[in-house]
Amino acid sequence: MTKKDREIIFDKYGGKCAYCGCDLVKGWHADHIDPVVRDFKWDRSSGRYKQTGTCQNPENDVLENYNPSCASCNIQKNSFTLEQFRKNIEQFVSSLNDYSTQYKFAKRYGLVIETGIDVKFYFEKIEDN
Ligand SMILES: [Zn+2]
Repeated sequence: MTKKDREIIFDKYGGKCAYCGCDLVKGWHADHIDPVVRDFKWDRSSGRYKQTGTCQNPENDVLENYNPSCASCNIQKNSFTLEQFRKNIEQFVSSLNDYSTQYKFAKRYGLVIETGIDVKFYFEKIEDN
């Protein structure tokens, strides 16, 4: 990817993460909207998986398929599609209710209020306006 490509991607939503809408900072990621699933193979000498340089969806590795993303959204999105990513985020509240005592306490004391709203990505809010 060229520096110019990164500039185009960065400017797509005015320097904001396409998903959460935070201001992008140094180290921001260029996310494949439709995932490119990279191929890995086990490297015995390093004891780690290494990228082979090939992927299962090379047709998705085009400029139009990139969104600017903060590191945490991109890492959480992983190789999910947009709808898989949305469902992943939507289940966080239920998971917190099932497993986090601190979250349940915070909720009981009114520090956290669940809204039940649908997950809407920043780029979708922009497109609606
Ligand atoms: Zn983000």
